[in-house]
Amino acid sequence: MVIGILGAGQLARMLALAGKPLGLKFIFLDPTPIACAADVGKHLIGDYTDKALLTQLADEADVITYEFENVPVDIIDFLNQQTPVYPPAKALLIGQDRITEKTFLQGLGLATAPFSDASSLAELQASMPEIGYPAILKTRRLGYDGKGQVVLRSAADLADAWEAIKNAPAVVEGFVPFDREISIIASRSVSGEVAYYPVSENNHEKGILRLAQSTQDDPMQAQAERYIHTIMTALDYVGTIALELFVVGETLIANEFAPRVHNSGHWTIEGSETSQFENHLRAVMDMPLGSTDSLGYAAMQNFIGNVPATEKLLSLSQVHLHLYDKAARKGRKLAHATIRTDSLEHYTDLISSLTELAKHSDDS
Ligand code: AMP
Repeated sequence: MVIGILGAGQLARMLALAGKPLGLKFIFLDPTPIACAADVGKHLIGDYTDKALLTQLADEADVITYEFENVPVDIIDFLNQQTPVYPPAKALLIGQDRITEKTFLQGLGLATAPFSDASSLAELQASMPEIGYPAILKTRRLGYDGKGQVVLRSAADLADAWEAIKNAPAVVEGFVPFDREISIIASRSVSGEVAYYPVSENNHEKGILRLAQSTQDDPMQAQAERYIHTIMTALDYVGTIALELFVVGETLIANEFAPRVHNSGHWTIEGSETSQFENHLRAVMDMPLGSTDSLGYAAMQNFIGNVPATEKLLSLSQVHLHLYDKAARKGRKLAHATIRTDSLEHYTDLISSLTELAKHSDDS
């Protein structure tokens, strides 16, 4: 079976690496000539709107998926005329716009941060008495890893913040005083079979995920599963999905969902019986999903901008290194390392070692 993927970055690469043992072949469409998934499948180099290449992708693939959520929805509709594409276009349509997304989440009865449309500086100023300070101004579209976001601490920040996001249509959100940030990842197959992973506890800096730790019996697990189940059902979802959540006391506040495999689930490669990548492939092929049982204490540390010396990382026992084969660039995710161990003491030591190594190499 051939899986087509829009995008040939590290997520596409990890999907292909998970699919090889199942005998799957991969074809990617990505405009970047040197893409890190290119050596694990066939790479069509060209624009996502190139109809000839899209047709070739649909001809050669049995099922198509994507690794990023900014795929134009009309491309999905075009491909779908020939070859099934999962996750469904509805997930993209809703997830691509922060206001549509938050309205959708609230419509499902899920709590979100207070938010207001800010399509002009005047509208932003008018929203602030209700939203209050601190707050975050975010572009409605195309924001990721904290890009297109500005923190607002007082009325004096508004004009500069509006300038900083370059007058783009935006949403202003109340700042959630969270105790923890977590995410839940789940997979749902074409037939509707569902599997949930243990909640991941996540640390971000400057809006970018740094450390994701698998939890065991997290008190928010059941509530997080209810949230993501509600979303998957409403979207008639197929594939792996991630939901980012803020924990405030006993309450979960939904931040955003990603209709794809997710950085906070990379620890599932070594830390789970079946990884989020393999379950995504199983889901879109309508195969039985694999067990999501944990294999011990597991965590993932991202390396951004630079990667610590390979020998140092490989000298740590029960640490697994994943290099994405990408050129180093400031603020770019280049690699991650996973910890998987049965010893809580060793786990704690390894978390300290990896965060320390990451701090020294990080240039974001
Ligand atoms: P996002 O792009 O919405 O995932 O935001 C990136 C990161 O910024 C989140 O993981 C949080 O650490 C922080 N953040 C975003 N929105 C809020 C909010 N409303 N309240 C508190 N922190 C936030």
